[in-house]
Amino acid sequence: AKREGRGRVRCFESEMDQELRDRRLLQHDLRQALEQNQLLVYFQPQARVDGEVIGFEALLRWNHPVRGFVPPDQFIPLAEENGLIVQIGEWILREACREAASWPRPLQVAVNLSPVQFQAGDLERSIHQILLETGLAPTRLEVEITEGVLIGDFTRALNLLRRLKALGIRIAMDDFGTGYSSLSYLQSFPFDKIKIDHSFISNLEATPQSAEIVRAVLGLAHALNIPVIAEGVETEAQRTFLAREACEEMQGYLVGRPDLIERYLDLVGVTVER
Ligand code: C2E
Ligand code: CA
Ligand code: CA
Ligand code: CA
Repeated sequence: AKREGRGRVRCFESEMDQELRDRRLLQHDLRQALEQNQLLVYFQPQARVDGEVIGFEALLRWNHPVRGFVPPDQFIPLAEENGLIVQIGEWILREACREAASWPRPLQVAVNLSPVQFQAGDLERSIHQILLETGLAPTRLEVEITEGVLIGDFTRALNLLRRLKALGIRIAMDDFGTGYSSLSYLQSFPFDKIKIDHSFISNLEATPQSAEIVRAVLGLAHALNIPVIAEGVETEAQRTFLAREACEEMQGYLVGRPDLIERYLDLVGVTVER
């Protein structure tokens, strides 16, 4: 029995080794991904609840030469761990701003910022630089942050947010309702938008509690004069509910999936030759 136990331990250990090796491998590959153009920006439309598209969220994609598409939920934590997210974050910001600056219609573009970008590097300087370089009006840029940004060095993050806002950039609170202290953060910073997490939207029909939570978030946000965008809107029934509850905006497969901007050229005002 003792021997069997030891064998199991060894087997468990080697599984952990395997996982660790795999993470290291992916991290190694990620360093090359930037230089070798394996990273892509997908764009997902954001619309008013009446369907009028008002902008796009930029979402990272990694097309790994062997593994194919690796989901961002898998590689972003790795990039945060080794700090590579600072470079990658700058890259997607530049790509998204450059792309948006080329659109005939002055739609907004939303970019996600990692907490690591707030703690390392000079985020304000690089955003300022990218805006100058691409010529995008700061008022067309929205940055999406999660409460993770405010968990580390709170004062530093808060000061940075204030300076970004002073540049004219809008700040959206992402994944609202999923963290531990979303409410207290509303108290500490004047967010320009709240994104209700998709988990509440996807449970709208099935769970009566979700509908009440969405109503409560909308009531709270509106009392504070903050517009709300609902994430993960997939059905017309969800859209109808949100419209009835005076939610301003929506994002999700109902409006459009994340894709290369080529798919959305008509929406950004580029007339496509056919
Ligand atoms: P997120 O910022 O909450 O992005 C929304 C996620 O919901 C995206 O997943 C999007 O594809 C997905 N989604 C959109 N509409 C629907 C829908 O109707 N139904 C369902 N089921 N899902 C929908 P994605 O692209 O896999 O990104 C996952 C997460 O990775 C993002 O969550 C964000 O936290 C992170 N991420 C993506 N791009 C970046 C980036 O450039 N920088 C940073 N720091 N994080 C990023
Ligand atoms: Ca987001
Ligand atoms: Ca989100
Ligand atoms: Ca999320």
